This record gives sequence, structure tokens and C-alpha cells, in this order.
Amino acid sequence: MIQKPKGTRDILPEETFKWQYLEGKISKLLENYGFDEIRVPVFEHTELFQRGVGETTDVVQKEMYTFEDKGGRSITLRPEGTAGAVRAYLENGLSSKPSPVKLWYNMGMYRYENVQKGRLREFHQIGIELLGTESYLADCEVILIGKRIFDILGIKNIKVTLNSIGCPKCRGEYQKVLKEFIGKNLDKYCDTCKSRFERNPMRILDCKEEKCKKLNDGAPMMIDYLCDECKEHFENVKRTLSGQNINFEIDSSIVRGLDYYTKTVFEFIDERSGLTVLAGGRYDGLVEELGGVHTPAVGFATGVERLMEMFEEANKGKINKRLADLYVLTIGEKENIKAIQISEELREKDFYVEKDLCSKSFKAQMKYADKIGAKNLLVIGEDELLTGKAKIKNMKTGEEKEVELEIEKIVECIK
Ligand code: ATP
Ligand code: MG
Repeated sequence: MIQKPKGTRDILPEETFKWQYLEGKISKLLENYGFDEIRVPVFEHTELFQRGVGETTDVVQKEMYTFEDKGGRSITLRPEGTAGAVRAYLENGLSSKPSPVKLWYNMGMYRYENVQKGRLREFHQIGIELLGTESYLADCEVILIGKRIFDILGIKNIKVTLNSIGCPKCRGEYQKVLKEFIGKNLDKYCDTCKSRFERNPMRILDCKEEKCKKLNDGAPMMIDYLCDECKEHFENVKRTLSGQNINFEIDSSIVRGLDYYTKTVFEFIDERSGLTVLAGGRYDGLVEELGGVHTPAVGFATGVERLMEMFEEANKGKINKRLADLYVLTIGEKENIKAIQISEELREKDFYVEKDLCSKSFKAQMKYADKIGAKNLLVIGEDELLTGKAKIKNMKTGEEKEVELEIEKIVECIK
């Protein structure tokens, strides 16, 4: 039998209803903040991600699903959502909409990763992008929304960490100092780090190799080299978040995995697993990088699989699949016609109704109704058709009630 590719998952019926619940809650929340959903292609021109994510990132250097299509174009499955969202924003003139433009997405992402706990090759991200403002208020709103997501899902064990990685102005000075520090041991770093030394030394601080992590101990931190503007921006963010009772920690080691970040960066960490569940930051240079006019922006993405794991842990047994309000048990042609008619009318009124579709025996239908956990059972046989009256059994209490075979009466009994 053919099996699914490594790093992919099937989301089965026992799980999909939880996904729908979680996605429904989050989309409603984002609507309350004025965010509109955007859907962009699963594949884009490879160049978009090379430019938008950054040539020296793990994503571009190691993780992209890139192939040549039959027309000889280099195509890449989207590894993240921001580059595509910004491309669509520019290509479709969304920049002429009232500013700031607020977009959200829920999309599958594709990365050739070392598969392990919390690390898949196909995974999903729900993300938001707030484009067109450099105000610290936007950073705060985005972080607040991140926090609210965990609140509305009943997830408590989450830690918010914050850093500022400055702007191109203050980064120049910092990179000099950082290169001096790393340069002393450059020969001991991994090959990827070596290759990043000239082009993007900050990337080296995000290396996942143990030996590089050790070498990075005691490295100078961007936060100590912020220019006055970046410093003030960061102070404002911290003060405003504190004013909203958001607990956060400053973690000066956060540099984020994508090249486009500036100023505020943040990660929401699952305190139990230590995994980052939601991450983002400000990216003031990206829109220009992709050919637009200077448009400061800020956003985040959360890994839905990781979020779902925390959600399940926090809500064990509390979110349940919808059960049938009624099973209509019936045998015979005329009886089936009546049963179909009743079922259809009830479904129109938003009841969940099932009936036999396999010409099962009376006993087998009973068994099925029991297995699917139907809440009520209505039997329609020859007698019921003749008298126009039938019994509805409450499957939980065993109680039976006689009703006329009229929709209003049935509704009364099962609602
Ligand atoms: P890391 O440093 O852990 O590789 P990253 O910088 O690649 O993270 P982002 O690209 O910012 O992460 O992704 C945002 C979020 O998406 C992560 O915090 C995580 O929840 C989720 N995510 C990223 N990669 C994967 C993956 N391979 N499988 C499942 N979820 C993922
Ligand atoms: Mg990664």
C-alpha cells in the first residue's frame, strides 16, 4: 500500500472538528480586530522567497521544495506566508486601501525539515500581517492578538518573549562588533555559519548546531546597540504591553529565522515542550525588497499543529464532536419516503438527522444509532404511517414519548 510522504499527516474525522473549532474561534477573533482573510497560491516563483525570506536563511538554503515546472520555470512550494501575502498586496493594489491594511491567512506550508516532534514537512500556519504603519501601537496590537489567541483557546502555559533587533542603521555598528566576536573562532563554526559570516553574521546566532550555540555564548547582543529611534520604539512597546497586563520576558537571543525582521521580534513559547508556537515581528524593509514603496509592517505566524497540541492538552474532553439529534429508524418503501421527508425538514431547521441508507434490518439500525451516539430515536413503521403517531425515544434516559408525525411536534420533542 502506498503511504503518505514523510513529514506529512492526515487530519482524520476524530480531529477535524477540533481544527474547525480552533480555526473558527481564531477567525472570529481576527475579524473583531478588523483583519480580512487572504488566500495565496501554494506555489510561487522561487525568487519571491529568495528575496522575501532571505538568501542566508535556513528556509531558503536548506528547506525549500523547489522544482522546475514543465515550462522551465523555477517554482517553490510556499514555506511561509508573509512573502506571498506581500506579493499579493503589491500585485493587486491593496496598498491603495485605507491604511493600515490588515490581512490574515490560514495555509499549509512546506519545508524540507528534519522530521521530529513539532517539526513536519507539511504544516499549517495561521498568520496576520499589518501593513502601512511604523507605530509601536501596531506592534502592541499584533502581540496582544497573539496573546488573545491563547486566552480564547484556554491555553495558560505560554511564555511571551520579546527582543528588538534594530534597523539597518544601528545594525551596521553591531555587525562590526559581532563579527569581531565570531571571527575569533570562525574556524570552529559549522560550514553554514562560515558561509553566513560575511553576508549576514546575525544569522549565526540562530544556528541550531550545539557546537555553534556554545561558541555563541557571550556574544554581543543587538539590544545593547540600538539607535535612539529603535530604543524609543522598544520602550514604547514594552510600556504599552505592561499597561495591558501582558507578561513578557526580554530574550536578547531571539533573532528569528527569516531575514526580513526589524525592530520588535517576539516568540510565544510552550512552557511545557519549550517549542515556539507563535512567532513574528516587524518587517519594515520587506515591501520595498519586493518592489513596493517603503511600507513598514508587522505580523506573526502560529504553527497550527503545535497550537492544536496545546489546545487539546488544555481542553481534554471539553470539546466534543456533534452527535445526531435524531436517528430515524425505518423499513419499507412508503415508510422510507416519510422518513426522508421528515429528515430533510429537520435538517433544514439545522438539526443533525441520520437515517438508514443500507436497507439494514431493524436490529442493525438500532445498533448503528447507538454506535454513533444518536440522542433520540424515531421509529416509523406501517402502524405509525397509518395512525400518524410515533414514539421518540431519548437514548440517554430511555424515556419514550408519543408524538404526532408533524415537524413542529418532533422539534418540540428533540430540541
Ligand atoms: P525554528 O527556528 O523553530 O525552525 P522558524 O523560525 O523556522 O522556527 P517560523 O518560520 O517563524 O519558525 O514559523 C512560525 C511558527 O510556525 C513556528 O513557531 C512553529 O509554530 C511553526 N513551524 C515552523 N516550522 C514548522 C514545522 N516544520 N513543523 C511544524 N510547525 C512549524
Ligand atoms: Mg525553521
